[in-house]
Amino acid sequence: MATTPPTRSPELRKDPVTNRWVIFSPARAKRPSDFKSKSPENPNNNSSSCPFCIGNEHQCAPEIFRVPPDPNWKLRVIENLYPALSRKLDHPNGQNDDSSSELSGLGRVVPGFGFHDVVIETPVHSVQLSDLDLSEIGDVLIAYKRRIEQIKQFDSIKYIQVFKNHGASAGASMSHSHSQMLSLPIVPASVSTRLNSMKEHFNQTGKCSLCKVQSKDLLINETSHFFSIAPYASSFPFEIWIIPRDHSSHFDELDNKKAVDLGGLLKLILKKMALQLNKPPFNFMIHTSPIQITDSEIPYSHWFLQIIPQLTGVGGFELGSGCYINPVFPGDAAKILRELNVPI
Ligand code: AMP
Ligand code: ZN
Ligand code: ZN
Repeated sequence: MATTPPTRSPELRKDPVTNRWVIFSPARAKRPSDFKSKSPENPNNNSSSCPFCIGNEHQCAPEIFRVPPDPNWKLRVIENLYPALSRKLDHPNGQNDDSSSELSGLGRVVPGFGFHDVVIETPVHSVQLSDLDLSEIGDVLIAYKRRIEQIKQFDSIKYIQVFKNHGASAGASMSHSHSQMLSLPIVPASVSTRLNSMKEHFNQTGKCSLCKVQSKDLLINETSHFFSIAPYASSFPFEIWIIPRDHSSHFDELDNKKAVDLGGLLKLILKKMALQLNKPPFNFMIHTSPIQITDSEIPYSHWFLQIIPQLTGVGGFELGSGCYINPVFPGDAAKILRELNVPI
């Protein structure tokens, strides 16, 4: 008679940063090491008509800056041709919070002022972010910082989300390597929830929830200034966080040296993910703090970079409950990625 191998019992864990409950339910049929992406990474990889390629700058929305500032650029920050928010609207200075936004019978409303920028990470169509060397990835990170510093001057911008969509099922419409920055006139609810959750952890323990590696079992790789983990209550299989070792509330506190260090770790993690999970589509998001935070919020506000490989879809249960079902225990994902050797 066939015997099924013993599986771990399901478990619910609550993340002290996101404040979300996650159901860990190990799939019976699949071992963690068998997780592979089935989606093609970049289905529409057509370079002949790509506006992001060097030489096609005229097909793009206006440029904000390029590095270096000459025709042979290595990266460009440009306006999004189809922006979610408008940089041309009159913007009220200062508050857009619940007390100052207009309340109609239907809900609150503020004008859709904001910036939606695209960062073209390389001039060459076939080159991906993980193909760049550490200092080139560092240059991309410093470009995010430089753009954040410009946008911070606008009082009515409250939060800046840096993100990358890679591959069609991760939401990318362009295959040329790029990331985006959306600067918002409000603080999204998930950001306020995160800050409140980190505050609660700080009040209960006296510690910032991200200052220390949570456990050696969750550690993937570390460098002088950063460590990467599979978080204790990750919502998605093989979700990875890269966290600065030194307490830092805002991404734009990053200096050039740390940017190269982070570039190296990001490259290593993206290479490991590609090798282990069959080049999955993925998203990364930089979770920084709202631009204006008070001195009392600083001790528990710690930025991090979240990477989510797209391996499982989001269904009705997740949409309905806000709870995710993750078939892979983070300790198993961390062990597999930690022990993987990749040439970089
Ligand atoms: P994604 O959809 O994640 O691949 O991001 C690509 C972004 O580039 C989209 O938000 C598009 O609106 C934007 N985009 C597409 N074509 C252009 C263009 N020619 N110039 C500037 N932005 C563009
Ligand atoms: Zn291109
Ligand atoms: Zn911290």
